[in-house]
Amino acid sequence: MNVHSFTFNLFSENTYILTDNHSKQCVIIDPGCSNYYEQNILMDFIQNQQLKPVLLLNTHCHIDHVFGNQWVKDTFNIPFYAHQKEIDNLHKLPMYAPMFGIPPFHSPFPDKYIDEKDTITFSKTTLTILFTPGHSVGSICFYHADSHQIISGDVLFNGSIGRYDLPGGNFYTLIESIKTKLLTLPNQTTVYSGHGPATTIGHERYNNPFLIS
Ligand SMILES: [Zn+2]
Repeated sequence: MNVHSFTFNLFSENTYILTDNHSKQCVIIDPGCSNYYEQNILMDFIQNQQLKPVLLLNTHCHIDHVFGNQWVKDTFNIPFYAHQKEIDNLHKLPMYAPMFGIPPFHSPFPDKYIDEKDTITFSKTTLTILFTPGHSVGSICFYHADSHQIISGDVLFNGSIGRYDLPGGNFYTLIESIKTKLLTLPNQTTVYSGHGPATTIGHERYNNPFLIS
């Protein structure tokens, strides 16, 4: 599996496109593109690679991760999957946006709810889902065991962890999620976070100040 990353919007959020070498199918995760310019960056990549988006996924539905949800749905007409516990965040978008000086906007609601027992398949790639609450109540990570890669959303960052002071956040739940779900993965697993540079499970296991104790 190949992971392509883009950094969008005033929160410097990482948007990911997943591909493999078997077909032109791709999956879009957390499209943060918040304006025409950013939408064009994503569209140019998809067209240049001749990709065919087949699925829209959200790791969680905080405002910075969902700016482009409606545009992706309208443009590619593909299903949108997220965890059921994130619905409240989608409902609150029109209220949160003005707090950041952003005009109110809406996201579509998921076509299907996904949880830990589910798997995601595109082309010849299958992802498993880890339920990792603590940053948000319905945070999930998408793990590809064969290539040792995980899309971690805002759960784990390079040298840090996600915020736990936002509504629905909880420090102890977040640490528990990281230790019982993410740190059980092999050290060589590459972690693609919702913000900042990629890292590895091994690097965070031995260096992350929130995890060494
Ligand atoms: Zn978040």
